[in-house]
Amino acid sequence: MDFHFEILKTDPTGARLGRLTTPHGVIDTPAFMPVGTSGTVKGLTQQALTELGVQVLLGNTYHLYLRPGHEKIRRLGGLHRFMSWPGAILTDSGGFQVFSLADLRKITDEGVVFRSHLDGSEHFLSPETSIEIQQALGSDIAMVFDECIEYPADHARAAAAVKRTTEWALRCRDFSRRNTETSTNPGQVYFAIVQGGTHADLRRESARQLVDLDFPGYAIGGLAVGEPHALSCEMAARAAEELPQDRPRYVMGVGLPEQLADYVRCGVDMMDCVLPTRNARNGCLFTSTGRLNIGNAIYADDPRPPDERCSCMVCRTYSRAYLRHLFQANEILASILNSHHNVAFFLDIMGKIRQAIAFGELAELSSEFLARIEAGEP
Ligand SMILES: [Zn+2]
Repeated sequence: MDFHFEILKTDPTGARLGRLTTPHGVIDTPAFMPVGTSGTVKGLTQQALTELGVQVLLGNTYHLYLRPGHEKIRRLGGLHRFMSWPGAILTDSGGFQVFSLADLRKITDEGVVFRSHLDGSEHFLSPETSIEIQQALGSDIAMVFDECIEYPADHARAAAAVKRTTEWALRCRDFSRRNTETSTNPGQVYFAIVQGGTHADLRRESARQLVDLDFPGYAIGGLAVGEPHALSCEMAARAAEELPQDRPRYVMGVGLPEQLADYVRCGVDMMDCVLPTRNARNGCLFTSTGRLNIGNAIYADDPRPPDERCSCMVCRTYSRAYLRHLFQANEILASILNSHHNVAFFLDIMGKIRQAIAFGELAELSSEFLARIEAGEP
């Protein structure tokens, strides 16, 4: 299957219902992508992911490069085969994680020298090495290497990162075109990443520069790094306005359940977030009436499912009292069941969003959803 994107319907709010075809299957958009940092969505088997209806997951280049190493994954046939995942995979460029996790030594136009958070060893990541790693992994969608900046960042700093990000995107594109034979996935495509911090003019400028380079899809990066949600949406909207209608748009690293529809209304087609799995391991369950901390003593004798509106395997089978017991006893199953429900919950929201776009009712869905969360549990 060759990569292509079609828009099936647009909503009056600006939301798009679409279908993204990749070498490893079709992705219904707007899509939520669970994060599979090190070749696993923590707490969920690949079989469970398939049963939950996951069509695409995210792999982290930085983590897989450090451990087990991209050449090992190449020798074992690429990331799909290595982790036995038949669906689509998107890999990030490693940029965000180098800038946020590693001990940075030096950033130049050439690339970034950093020390591994695992063992302190020194490494170099550049536009070319990021593509080389992602070609070994063989993701369906690879991301160009970009410069991620902190929030807040002043206009001059953000402008410099936009300039470097465009130069790096060009180098990624050229390197990938010169090395089409080296990917373990011949159908692999690259998305560019719009930067610009919280400056609307820079978001527009960054998008325009990258559109000139003609990528098959575009991401909007550097959001959800501490800025207010309304500002985050505004930046996504400004960038989206400059992006071609017929290419998929992906906002990286967002968001909370009640925020997903806001990004969809900005014309965004794809999102990813570690919250469902990370919070699950800390005992936080997302539900239709808000968040539930399952370790709380008030659930010790509660026979109800985590979310009475959820039809996932966990909610059909287990009580809050049992989940609280597992969490208190530090049982492995606590993380597994909590992760299962949270990922199911995020996917369910996206399914409802797609349905609402199909019927032109996204605005109503969002207000109903928010009202229920605000009202809390009866
Ligand atoms: Zn559930």
